[in-house]
Amino acid sequence: NEIVKAEGTDEVYTKSPRFIQLIFVDINGVPKGMEIPASRYEEAITDGITFDGSSIPGFQGIEDSDLIFKADPSTYAEIPWEGIARVYGYIYKDEKPYHADPRGVLRKVLERLEKEGFTAYIGPEPEFYLFKKNGSWELHIPDSGGYFDLITLDKARSLRREIALYMPVFGLVPEVLHHEVGKAQHEIDFRFDEALKTADNIVSFKYIVKAIAEMRGLYATFMPKPLYGMPGNGMHLHISLWKGGENAFKGEDELSETALYFLGGILKHAKALAAITNPTVNSYKRLVPGYEAPVYISWGYRNRSALVRVPAFWGDGARIEYRCPDPSANPYFAFAAILMAGLDGIKRKIEPDAYVEENVYKMSESRREELGIDTLPGSLGEALEELRKDKVVKEALGKAYENFISYKELEWERYVEYLESKELPLETKKVTEWELERYFHI
Ligand code: GLN
Ligand code: MG
Ligand code: MG
Ligand code: MG
Repeated sequence: NEIVKAEGTDEVYTKSPRFIQLIFVDINGVPKGMEIPASRYEEAITDGITFDGSSIPGFQGIEDSDLIFKADPSTYAEIPWEGIARVYGYIYKDEKPYHADPRGVLRKVLERLEKEGFTAYIGPEPEFYLFKKNGSWELHIPDSGGYFDLITLDKARSLRREIALYMPVFGLVPEVLHHEVGKAQHEIDFRFDEALKTADNIVSFKYIVKAIAEMRGLYATFMPKPLYGMPGNGMHLHISLWKGGENAFKGEDELSETALYFLGGILKHAKALAAITNPTVNSYKRLVPGYEAPVYISWGYRNRSALVRVPAFWGDGARIEYRCPDPSANPYFAFAAILMAGLDGIKRKIEPDAYVEENVYKMSESRREELGIDTLPGSLGEALEELRKDKVVKEALGKAYENFISYKELEWERYVEYLESKELPLETKKVTEWELERYFHI
């Protein structure tokens, strides 16, 4: 085995890994998998490898125990610090795509989009915090940095660069690295890509960040609101549809009609979408006024208090920025739901209303009513209620909807029980121990 050096680092790894990790994600978007000796890789691509999925969160239990994983060789990458390789794939059951496989769900939606002639491109802005553990979780201090600070008195910035240097090994192209508003909060943006690739990239990104942080004695968390009173972790998504090699969102000094209808669809389905793009109890602790996270269902051009912002690019860079999603979302489900909501807007020619350039947080309630500005769900419970009523968003998940809703209803129930046991009100905005325990590593 040839020993090679990972580009830009001191890590070495073997050229021909002896083991390969076969990775899929569970209902939460958390990577799961098994390892095979490299000699079985061929077989993993052609026939697939059988496994017992009965204990995977959100898969259906006993009757779904015999599943088959088929590797998608285009996703193959080596994990330098492990000396092995990993590959993503699709899950099958009885020769057919397994209905609860998130990657399969997104593939199906993309095929529907393709039938309409569209290819979706998405670029994410994931945010995360660095913590230390001394019995309990503590923010990684000294790092008193804030937005765009360069000198943060600690190893955070070298760690950020180290992450960026490893990203290309996994096929990600880092574009911007910076300190975020929160102390010990960071953002690394990577290049937009076709939707399935970007969803894979988000899974890889979270994996890389967590692994490097751990190597340096720290913990990275993507939970949407790790600390009450501090900014949350968002994952803004920049979205465009292309048709016949052209950006279908491109217009003359404006977004195209297609883009505006897509935007109309997003706003129309925003409440139900939240259940999927913001799928944890903790997600709704982020969606509160005062931290640059959206609360109201509105859109605007420069307006960063809006749910959807339209960056001022009308050429090939024409796109919308959806500011609601957070990094606890399963990216495959989130993209599937968002794209179907947007497509519904295009098909039904839904005009987006609730256009604002004022700061929506500073508006009086009556002014918001006048402008027809509605509010996002205030809790996971409310979001699930909205999802149950929204046929378009439900259908985006196909039969995986049943798995999703029953899994999430149970999660919400458990949280309500916890609040009751602590005699806390349902509107509790403080971050609870229950959330830290359940979501810190999400
Ligand atoms: N952290 C903010 C959020 O929760 C975003 C801040 C920013 O990127 N401007 O969405
Ligand atoms: Mg950003
Ligand atoms: Mg940011
Ligand atoms: Mg942004």
